[in-house]
Amino acid sequence: MKVTIDKKSGFCWGVVRTVDIAEQVLNDAKDSGKNTYILGHIIHNPKEISRLEDKGLKTISHSDLEEIAKKDKDANIIIRAHGEPPSTYQKSAELGLKIIDATCPLVTNLQNRVRKYYELGYQIIIFGKRDHAEVIGLRGVCNDECIIIKSFEEAKQITQFDRKTVFMSQTTMDKQVFHQIKEYLNTKINDMIDLGSLDDKLLGRDTTCRAVTKRKEPLVEFAKSNDVMIFVSGKTSSNGKSLYQSCLEVNPKSYFIEDCNEIDWSWFENAETVGITGATSTPHWYMEKVKEEIERRYNNTN
Ligand code: SF4
Repeated sequence: MKVTIDKKSGFCWGVVRTVDIAEQVLNDAKDSGKNTYILGHIIHNPKEISRLEDKGLKTISHSDLEEIAKKDKDANIIIRAHGEPPSTYQKSAELGLKIIDATCPLVTNLQNRVRKYYELGYQIIIFGKRDHAEVIGLRGVCNDECIIIKSFEEAKQITQFDRKTVFMSQTTMDKQVFHQIKEYLNTKINDMIDLGSLDDKLLGRDTTCRAVTKRKEPLVEFAKSNDVMIFVSGKTSSNGKSLYQSCLEVNPKSYFIEDCNEIDWSWFENAETVGITGATSTPHWYMEKVKEEIERRYNNTN
């Protein structure tokens, strides 16, 4: 049996950057004796979270900030790649806490765009998941005056089409669905916006992240070329769920796991080739571990 890790898999550059910042802060904190906290899980991957927790990173929620301000004022507070709404920065400043901002620059750009169109008086529609951390940040920059839709069906429930409108996306949503919804909304908007074309009534800004979307095509090819696919990802990863669906569509023998323990060895019956891939938050070192596990087991049982 040949087991191969997808060459295009592993962290996206935004996650690499956030993890690098966290490791650097943790290293510096070793000498100063400061604690390092992160608001929410650093990424949607329990393996990487526990690796960084072993180095001293402590995951906290917003409700912990006041307590930290009382007892641990010199601590480092990291903001993760998903970003935060302005209220978090404001609260931290009021409490006198030191923020280290590791928001992915693409998310910061998206926040800036939402803020810009909000200030210009546009109706804002966002394709995303209302309670996803990134979307909470986007809602924050427009005072929560936006419409969030997570599917084509939800787009059909929008009734107000008499304002100039901008349509954007959470970075990890499906690009194709974004464009389907954009086309639909375009036919519904009554208020003409000067875009230089009479057909463009809606300002559609494709803000899906290329680090995710450009993965889909090679991933599909990789999934087609293997008998069995093991998709390794945290269960809460948005792009993990979506990329896994892309694998499953072309290879019904695609299996989603978060941990090696979830492998069912009957999946590999008659398989000659096994492909391993994952989300943009799946660490390479853990896919290596899955590979070793499969190879060890296969060799032991044959
Ligand atoms: S998926 Fe894209 S937006 Fe999200 S952290 Fe990675 S590079 Fe940044």
